[in-house]
Amino acid sequence: MNSEILLAPELTLIDERFERGVAVGIDAETGLITRVTSGTVGAVPLPRRALVPGFVNVHSHSFQRAIRGRTEHRTGAEYDTFWTWREKMYHVAQSLTPEDIHDVARMAFLEMTLAGITTVGEFHYLHHQPDGTPYADPNETAKAILTAAQEVGIGIVLLQCGYTRGGFDRPLHPGQRRFCTPSADVFCANLESLRAEARVGVAPHSFRAVPLDYARQLHAYSRRHELPFHMHISEQPRENAETLAEHGETPLDLLAREHMLDRRFTAVHAVHITDREIDELGAAEANVCACPTTERNLGDGIIRADRLFSRGVTIGFGSDSQIQIAPLEDARALEYHLRLDRLERVALADAHDTRESALATRLWRCATESGSRSLGIDAGTIRSGAMADLFTIDLDDVSIADAEDDALISSIVFSLERTAIRDVWIAGRPIVKERHHPLAGEIVSRFQKLQRRLWT
Ligand SMILES: [Zn+2]
Repeated sequence: MNSEILLAPELTLIDERFERGVAVGIDAETGLITRVTSGTVGAVPLPRRALVPGFVNVHSHSFQRAIRGRTEHRTGAEYDTFWTWREKMYHVAQSLTPEDIHDVARMAFLEMTLAGITTVGEFHYLHHQPDGTPYADPNETAKAILTAAQEVGIGIVLLQCGYTRGGFDRPLHPGQRRFCTPSADVFCANLESLRAEARVGVAPHSFRAVPLDYARQLHAYSRRHELPFHMHISEQPRENAETLAEHGETPLDLLAREHMLDRRFTAVHAVHITDREIDELGAAEANVCACPTTERNLGDGIIRADRLFSRGVTIGFGSDSQIQIAPLEDARALEYHLRLDRLERVALADAHDTRESALATRLWRCATESGSRSLGIDAGTIRSGAMADLFTIDLDDVSIADAEDDALISSIVFSLERTAIRDVWIAGRPIVKERHHPLAGEIVSRFQKLQRRLWT
């Protein structure tokens, strides 16, 4: 076990409590936590640092980092909505070469590591050339993203997205051609070769974008190989209306009838859903991925996390459109949107749990363990045998200095700034040291060059 490094921080988050005098062994060869021990002899001391598990980003479209800051204006439409935003997004999606996709993915992944994210679920749909013709290697763009993740050092679960159409009775938008793989057999064959070299999941885009038979085939593939199964669900009311018109049911009701809801399933967004659908998710022990920083930016609506929690549904977070890459900001928004709506405080803590740390601990778990569950990985917790995905928090950072013990987790969840995130290990390897990523300069300058080409 000579490749083990033993870390001895001042505080370590174990079983939802900050403990003193604990050392954590990590091994870059296995990528795992080797031990959690009270003996700190030979350990690397980390004074004034708290060691915590890394965040899991369940839902990312890395290329959308290229439209950050470029859609915050009126387009001349009567109302600006998700659908007018989507036009701009499609324009950029059409313009990117595989090399560009790699460069923008590196930029998004770099920011994720600096934000304490150690694994990303990349929901990938820029599969083909802009006119829809597959590249010579049909997985060329997927591989560009995997290479980007490897170079940055972030863990990735590639959620390959199935897409075939513009909508029920709706012609294909020119901007959607490169998303489409019309045959589910071809989609699964392409995924099969990726599965040999990467951790993957299966993700029919939505019931807008795929017919039911296609979703069935992808689900069967995911069940055969026990892979995560993700789908955009009820982000916008129009999606529900279209699914009702085609199938006579809303997306979640349809999935329930088709027996596609289970622990491997994650409903991304799930904003416009009924109490019955929440019951269906709970009964299936399924997951929801909330993306509140994106949902508020796009005007999607407020996710009813209070009702989801009351039915035992697990909620993780996704940076989705990359308007912000900040898991704790998603955690705050999940709670704060409900405070504004209900005119109440502490909306997401159990009514009878008055512990000081109860709410913050629940939100922290969303950003870590729940995300791991959704992506089917063993991370988000500091335990022997789990993935060695960790970061340190500077206990003297101005955003949280003075908070100790029980108050610390609440200070972190509600007030931590990124300046406090200092060192990040992913699969036991040091990726960020003292807020510095070794490739940052090169990644940022290549991205700036790409943006100049796209926008001038
Ligand atoms: Zn999405």
